[in-house]
Amino acid sequence: METAIISGKGGTGKSSISAAFAMIAGEVVLADCDVDAANLYILFDPEKEEERVYVGGKKAVIDYDLCTNCGLCVDYCRFHAIHTIDGKVEISEVSCDGCKLCARVCPFDAISMVENNLSRMFSGNFRGGKMVYGRLAPGEENSGKLVNMVRAKAKELAKEGNFSHIIIDGPPGIGCAVISAISGVNQVVIVTEPSMSGLHDLKRAVEVTQKFNLNPWVLINKFDLNTEMTVVIENYCRKSGLKIAGKLPFDPIVVDAMVNLKSIPEWAPESEISSRLKKIWRKIVGGKNPC
Ligand code: SF4
Ligand code: SF4
Repeated sequence: METAIISGKGGTGKSSISAAFAMIAGEVVLADCDVDAANLYILFDPEKEEERVYVGGKKAVIDYDLCTNCGLCVDYCRFHAIHTIDGKVEISEVSCDGCKLCARVCPFDAISMVENNLSRMFSGNFRGGKMVYGRLAPGEENSGKLVNMVRAKAKELAKEGNFSHIIIDGPPGIGCAVISAISGVNQVVIVTEPSMSGLHDLKRAVEVTQKFNLNPWVLINKFDLNTEMTVVIENYCRKSGLKIAGKLPFDPIVVDAMVNLKSIPEWAPESEISSRLKKIWRKIVGGKNPC
C-alpha cells in the first residue's frame, strides 16, 4: 500500500508526520519525494547503498576560446541568465532555463548545451526499513521526473524486501512534482493548519487529489492554535465528504524531536501527540471513515 502525505504549502509539519508514520508503521519503505528540499535523510541518516545520477535538463556553457565577447547572447537571453562580469560574458547555471536560444544566435558557435547532472537519487537502509530520496540540484529542473524515479525505486525495494507499506513524503504545493507523488497511490493524507490560508491551500490540494479519483484524508495539525478555524475546516471536510484522519495539537516536542534527530514517537513515545499519531495511522491503514 502506498500512502502519500502532502500539504497545500510548505511548513505544515508534513515531514515530521511522515517520519512519525514511518516509525509507527514498523518496517516500511520511506520515499522522500520533496526533492527540492529533502530533509528526512538528515533525520534518519540512511546508509547510501545506491546513488544514481539524475539528468534534469540541459544548461548552456561558453567556450571562451571561441567567444569574442560580442554580447549578442546577453541581449537574447529572456531569462537574464547571461551577464557581462568584469568585461567577460558569463552564464548563471541557476538562472539558465536550457532554452538553447543563445547557442543558436551565437555567431561564433561558442555556446554548447551540456547535461545538468548534479541531481541525485539515493537509497539504502534506515532504522525503520528502506529509504529512498531525491535531491534536485539548485537550478535543475523536472522535479516531477525525479519524483517518479524515487517512487519507482521505492516500489522496487518494497517488492524485493516484501514490505507492505510505502510512505511518501510528498512535495508541498500543487505543482507537477505533487502530481507525480500522488498518481497511482492507494491513499493520500493532506496535512493542513487551522487558518484561512490553510483552508485555501487545503481546498487546492483536495482538487488535485480528486483529479486522480482519490478521496483524501485530512489531518489538521496544530488544531489548538485556532479552534474556531479548526471547526470551519472540519465542517468543510464533512460537507465535501472528506475523511478526517484526526487532529494534532501544537507541541514543542515536535521541534525537540527534530533537533535531536528523532521522529516524534522515538523521542517521546509516551506523549499525547505520539498516541494521537498512532491512532491516526491505525485509522488510515484501517481505511475507516470516521465522518
Ligand atoms: S554570442 Fe557568442 S561570441 Fe558573443 S558573447 Fe555570446 S558566447 Fe560570446
Ligand atoms: S540556454 Fe536560454 S536561458 Fe540558458 S543562457 Fe541560453 S538563452 Fe539564456
